[in-house]
Amino acid sequence: MARGISLFKILGIRISLDYTWFIVFVLFAWSLSRGYFPQNIPGLSGPMYLAMGAVSALMLFICVLIHELSHSYTANRLGLDIKEITLFIFGGVARLTREPEDAMTELKVAVAGPAASLALGVFFILLKKALASVLQIPVITSVVGFLATINFVLLVFNMIPGFPLDGGRVLRAIWWARTGDVKNATRVSTQIGKAFAMFLIVFGFFQIISGYFVQGLWAILIGAFMQQAAETSYRQLVLKMAIEGIRVKDIMTKNVVTVDSDLLLSDVIERYFFNYHFVSFPVTSNGKVVGLLTLNRVREAGREKWGATAVRDAMEKLTADMTLHPNDTAQHALARMVSDDVGRYPVLDEAGSLKGILSRRDIMKTMEFKAELEG
Ligand SMILES: [Zn+2]
Repeated sequence: MARGISLFKILGIRISLDYTWFIVFVLFAWSLSRGYFPQNIPGLSGPMYLAMGAVSALMLFICVLIHELSHSYTANRLGLDIKEITLFIFGGVARLTREPEDAMTELKVAVAGPAASLALGVFFILLKKALASVLQIPVITSVVGFLATINFVLLVFNMIPGFPLDGGRVLRAIWWARTGDVKNATRVSTQIGKAFAMFLIVFGFFQIISGYFVQGLWAILIGAFMQQAAETSYRQLVLKMAIEGIRVKDIMTKNVVTVDSDLLLSDVIERYFFNYHFVSFPVTSNGKVVGLLTLNRVREAGREKWGATAVRDAMEKLTADMTLHPNDTAQHALARMVSDDVGRYPVLDEAGSLKGILSRRDIMKTMEFKAELEG
């Protein structure tokens, strides 16, 4: 789900911006230039306040980036494979291809971000002191002072013990370590996260009614964001855990309908696509799988050529990265299907003979069944 703009790569991790970031950036820069800075140092010009607001919002972005990189760097060092971070203005979402497998790893990754914010907060306090004694430029000291404050705000906000915030992950890790029940630990920390989000939203409404419009709007925005994040990350986690330990061979379709590479497309459409309602078929030649014929490929070949085109000329030729092994885990298979944006893979053994076919739908079905059964 790439919803945003890809920026650059750092420490091997791709950094993207969520679209909502731009709205929040403008709102943030604007509210600083209208509220915080005029109160902090009165008497400056409007454009000056705007510039201070914009610089502060940009610097906040860099601080959030450092916070997130600290999580991801730690995670990668502990063997979790993080390739991408999507940034929102108050935080980021690292795309984990795997969830931490033990409580200690989870704890270390969770703490790394707030530790970075704490370090940044202390750094900006010291910088402000140094600047105030050396060059007396209130505009700069004021911005640096704001950055110190906002890093402590980030620290405190992220340490709220509701999943998926860092504090929620810490709580989950401790609960998990003590009870050994990762699912229950996740449920409890998610519920706390949701309760806190609800509180923020209600609090925001009261602030608006009392005349504090901007503050109230912030509280509602953050609350709504947390509510949604708690919901989706919990569901993803439950689904991921549901297929834990399941291998491709356990859930693949074993009696695979294959298509001979010598057939004409017009025959295949009649005899296979209309008959079986699959969107793709493995193609065989002399008993070996040589490719995949998808409905898309058939369409691209052009209706008027269906009667003269052989399957082998229209199919996608099989390469090693288009197949799964029977012993691959279902989680690995799903991660690959999602990142390659592919609906199904043929399953081949070491000798290259076809053992089955696995689709995204097969995995989803299994997830839903298991989640349903286990509650
Ligand atoms: Zn964090």
